[in-house]
Amino acid sequence: MPSSNFGTDSSDPNNCTAITKREPSFNPNILSAGSKDVVRTLQSAGHQAFLVGGCIRDALLGLHPKDFDVATSAPPDSVKPLFRKCRIIGRRFRLAHVFSRGELVEVATFRKDASNDDSNNVSDQQVAKSGILTADNAFGSLDEDIIRRDFTINALYYDPQANEILDGVNGLADIEAKKIRLIGDPDVRFVEDPVRILRALRFAAKLDFDIEEATEAAIPKYAHLLKEIPPARLFEELQKLFICSYGKKCLDQLLKYDIFKYILPQTQHFLEYDSARQMINLALDNTEKRILQGKTVTPSFLLAIFLWAPVRAWQAHFMKQDIQPMLALHQAINQVVQTQISTTALPKRFTGPMQDIFELQERLCRASRKSALKTLAHRRFRAAFDFLVIRELASDIEPGVAKWWLNLQTASPESRKKLLQDLRSGNSRRK
Ligand code: ATP
Ligand code: MG
Repeated sequence: MPSSNFGTDSSDPNNCTAITKREPSFNPNILSAGSKDVVRTLQSAGHQAFLVGGCIRDALLGLHPKDFDVATSAPPDSVKPLFRKCRIIGRRFRLAHVFSRGELVEVATFRKDASNDDSNNVSDQQVAKSGILTADNAFGSLDEDIIRRDFTINALYYDPQANEILDGVNGLADIEAKKIRLIGDPDVRFVEDPVRILRALRFAAKLDFDIEEATEAAIPKYAHLLKEIPPARLFEELQKLFICSYGKKCLDQLLKYDIFKYILPQTQHFLEYDSARQMINLALDNTEKRILQGKTVTPSFLLAIFLWAPVRAWQAHFMKQDIQPMLALHQAINQVVQTQISTTALPKRFTGPMQDIFELQERLCRASRKSALKTLAHRRFRAAFDFLVIRELASDIEPGVAKWWLNLQTASPESRKKLLQDLRSGNSRRK
């Protein structure tokens, strides 16, 4: 394995000095067999290959790595023929997706950073007017790959054959010190890719780490650049921030650095209202619990929670113009979704269910003898009911509504009849 020198300024902790090799503190069995096989195959074909990034960071911290990334000297076109099941994906980064032992392993070719690219080859690396990298496909060496990564803790390379960790940026020391430190100059690295700001906050929340001083100081300087990030990419980050077991901590971080407004600007206006904030906290608690229990969670539910307050405000606005509630709700959803998609994408597969959850709120709050059983049979009833429970806990509706629906679900046919009789035949939930 090559041991190399790169960079000469050893007084600057952000500059790479030399790659040190260490035996890892983790049991290699914690890393998936499929990903180790991929590394072995690449190495056997004469390429350099390592497991890298989050999986090594998490394994060192005693956490269970959730996905496995491989970095290699082999370009994507040389990776492909080595595996039976492999496809090349990605526009911003060309990557190989290899299926090994039933697992998906992401294989990325070593790349170099635009700011270190003397040739400034714009066809491989495109830089927008703002300085943000829009494409980054210039392949590089291991040394270059190390310093183009975001944080020191994410730049540790593991060679399963040698059972060694390669560290060129003092990442092991930062793991020990629980510090999130950008590699290189924060003034360059955040401008190049402002999403690194969100990543720093997410890792701080996930790992309970502090953000190193110079990295932290640069956050407020460049947070506004998040406005330039394509909505689709920001939506991916939104999911990573909240569809996890530490979403509430992510929210706290985003609020601490005043960054929430760059992701959900309409929701930001309502955060000072107790019930809106409480609904968000309850839903994030709920999500965390479900994930820890291995249950599925859908982004539509959380989106509904985040966008509910703005939707209600618009609905009230339209109702003041004498538009009837359901139509006003439709117009409000449209309005809020249209505004949100200029910030983050909102795929239809999520806005459809979100709309159902919203519409069912009307039906749950105004149930009649005629409509109640139909509402109960709606395919989105469960999600809408969970939403209703959160509303009730956050005092967004009068108490007792959720309880009535809970009783209806669990009642015997006899008691169900009784519950329905208590309803008016018209359009109000209770007499
Ligand atoms: P997790 O999977 O827990 O979110 P991760 O660190 O594995 O964390 P990924 O998005 O899977 O995050 O990225 C894998 C690795 O790619 C990172 O560890 C980092 O080395 C590098 N990386 C990802 N995004 C960036 C970025 N925006 N700039 C520089 N390097 C990045
Ligand atoms: Mg990862």
